[in-house]
Amino acid sequence: MEKVSELYRGKAKTVHTTSDPNYLILEFRDDTSAFDGERIEQLARKGMVNNRFNHFIMEKLAAEGIPTQMERLLSDTESLVKNLAMIPVECVVRNIAAGSLVRRLGVEEGISLTPPTFELFLKNDALHDPMINESHAVAFGWATHEQLAEMKRLTFAVNDVLKSLFDQAGLLLVDYKLEFGVFNGKVVLGDEFSPDGCRLWDKETREKLDKDRFRQGLGGVVEAYEEVAKRLGLELPA
Ligand code: UDP
Repeated sequence: MEKVSELYRGKAKTVHTTSDPNYLILEFRDDTSAFDGERIEQLARKGMVNNRFNHFIMEKLAAEGIPTQMERLLSDTESLVKNLAMIPVECVVRNIAAGSLVRRLGVEEGISLTPPTFELFLKNDALHDPMINESHAVAFGWATHEQLAEMKRLTFAVNDVLKSLFDQAGLLLVDYKLEFGVFNGKVVLGDEFSPDGCRLWDKETREKLDKDRFRQGLGGVVEAYEEVAKRLGLELPA
């Protein structure tokens, strides 16, 4: 399927229409942003790595019965996906305290969260993605109770699959953000799963192998993503 026109240009991906209104093409660019788009840099190979990584993870999730937007890989930097009506609410599960949870609650980074926490954020850069609760989402019409329940169920189902997948690769899945949309009346996992939207630490050394390397200016960002891919057994083009 071919790209027809540019529908939306996000911070790291461009969404293109196709000749079929039910399908879109996601193009992963090398742009890397942090702090709600205040800092943007190009990192060579990142588009290819994240496109391939996302496809690999979405296939694993689909194999475990989680409905995803992924149809197929089209090229190194493009994937064909279902055209979802996106729900503007981000779902975050945390297995270990880090990031905004540490800043907001003053807890120590690295403590285990048992059971894992579940949080909702409004997708809105201008407002810095504020934390919301279910009643906000329903009152403002961003999602229904039923959709939110399904989003929560699927977000935890993803945790079960990915925690063990990363564990086998010697990695801790610290936290991650998912976005969902509606396709034919059903809640489906959309957007992407890549080291841009999750935290992954080496199990032994707790070295950060995710976008915190970019946020914190640690360097070796794409190299870390490629290391994660390699440990998962995902072969990337040279
Ligand atoms: N996250 C994301 N997009 C966002 C906000 C968060 O992908 O707009 C991811 C982030 O990479 C991390 C998880 O969601 O894996 C939890 O992020 P947190 O709330 O700790 O915010 P941050 O510290 O990234 O500002």
